Amino acid sequence: MSHKQARRIAKFIEPLRVEPGSRVDLAEDFDPRYKARLKKREGAELLRTGVGLLAEYQAKLAAQDTYGVLLCLQAIDAGGKDGTIRHVMSGVNPQGVHVSSFKVPSAEELDHDYLWRYAWRLPARGDIAIFNRSHYEEVLVVRVHPENLDRQRLPAEAQGRDVWARRYREINDWERYLCDNGFRVVKIFLNLSEEEQRTRFLKRLDRPEKNWKFSAADLRERERWDDYQHAFGEMLSATSTPWAPWYVVPADRKWFARICAAAVLVHTLMEIDPQYPVVGKKARKELRAAKRLLEQQAPEGAERDPYAAGRRG
Ligand code: AMP
Ligand code: MG
Repeated sequence: MSHKQARRIAKFIEPLRVEPGSRVDLAEDFDPRYKARLKKREGAELLRTGVGLLAEYQAKLAAQDTYGVLLCLQAIDAGGKDGTIRHVMSGVNPQGVHVSSFKVPSAEELDHDYLWRYAWRLPARGDIAIFNRSHYEEVLVVRVHPENLDRQRLPAEAQGRDVWARRYREINDWERYLCDNGFRVVKIFLNLSEEEQRTRFLKRLDRPEKNWKFSAADLRERERWDDYQHAFGEMLSATSTPWAPWYVVPADRKWFARICAAAVLVHTLMEIDPQYPVVGKKARKELRAAKRLLEQQAPEGAERDPYAAGRRG
């Protein structure tokens, strides 16, 4: 990775970052159709580069085994979370990546504090965990449909109007704690327009192989469009922090959204700058001894080191 490439990526994602402390008006500040004057054809090449870089960095992250990365993906229905995960992670070693999808909480999950089920699925050191929906549902769907909050059976003193402000603070503190302990939290909001959602829903209805993706509840949620936009704006304003900023990715063009998501993730990995562990003097001596031993075991007529011989041609 050259410095030039690193600077290009940083500059590319700059307009997507929510400045910590700023107030976001989603409709005013972020255009779902923005594409940085890129053409789709150029996009394909860029995504390939991004996917390649991710694979390279993930291998180092795993080898170093010191830092972990949590990627949170949030979006309205049909925002493109699944496709983004599929494309962006297409080059990485599946051993180092875990995807968790969060649905309506189970009885067991509701029996715990609200962050419990997310904490359970955090990455280990060396790993990338992806949250397809995340702890941010706790200030999104739960806020838009407060009956979800009732199901969480909070004690009386923990209810009341300041519950959302408190959750923002708790989430910020939790992410700070993770960051301080070597786990970077990367947050991507896929920003879809109302009209593009309509088109994608119709596609799901028109194509039999997509029917399974549609549920009647999707239309009921769509009726709450404005409430969701409001909740997104509040969430972005309150929880974009210096240690875990939000990135608002324009989602109306899937190909562009995928490039942005890859770029944001690569940028984070570049900042971590993981390195392959360097073998120390003592260990190198042991490696040399092991090599000698294996060479002595060469059968009659065989190369002492077939690998080295193969490389010499
Ligand atoms: P999908 O991602 O399309 O499979 O849908 C998952 C559903 O679970 C969505 O309708 C979410 O709004 C809902 N969901 C996710 N997290 C929560 C939560 N904490 N409380 C209530 N509903 C949730
Ligand atoms: Mg759905």
